[in-house]
Amino acid sequence: MLYKLFKISNKTKILGLNSGNLTYISRMNPRARHLRLALHNNGEVILTRPRYVSEKYATAFLLSKGAWLEKQLAKIKNSKNFSLLSETKAEYSVNQAKARAVITERLSYLNAVYNFKYKSISIRNQKTRWGSCSRRGGLSFNYRLIFFSPQVIDYVIAHELCHLKEFNHSKKFWDLVARAIPDYKKIRRELKNQNLTI
Ligand SMILES: [Zn+2]
Repeated sequence: MLYKLFKISNKTKILGLNSGNLTYISRMNPRARHLRLALHNNGEVILTRPRYVSEKYATAFLLSKGAWLEKQLAKIKNSKNFSLLSETKAEYSVNQAKARAVITERLSYLNAVYNFKYKSISIRNQKTRWGSCSRRGGLSFNYRLIFFSPQVIDYVIAHELCHLKEFNHSKKFWDLVARAIPDYKKIRRELKNQNLTI
């Protein structure tokens, strides 16, 4: 199992699970006696730690609880109260900012493989697509990507980056994608079940 933490601010991070991403907030409470991990039905994971527990130890504890979090996430996704997908405007702008932070970071990481030039990055509430690349070099991404696994996010970013060089879906294009994402076929199948195109 692969869990990743993407930093949004000192206190807030995104925790990438296999079944989706969650907002992770780490808090120190001097009155807390033990580490306490809670998953709220707005998709926030809150870890409260006593003063004597280091941030590093708390992170290791969080990552060791991945399987438990997956189970809890499946439970709340099945309940009516799960608000990750029915968000307010305020939540949208928070999620858009998170998406921008994660996508910008992953884009520069993946582009180290290609070194392609692009004009701009925009994060949008796209109804029909996960991402797109314009002929003028503008990359757009769907903010909902942050609810998916880090593997899916990386694949969509690499896909759009490769369109800067190959404006088609030819064999040359897919060979280029495979340079950064060797198992892209598997991830592509996973994404195909989501009703949005790329
Ligand atoms: Zn494409």
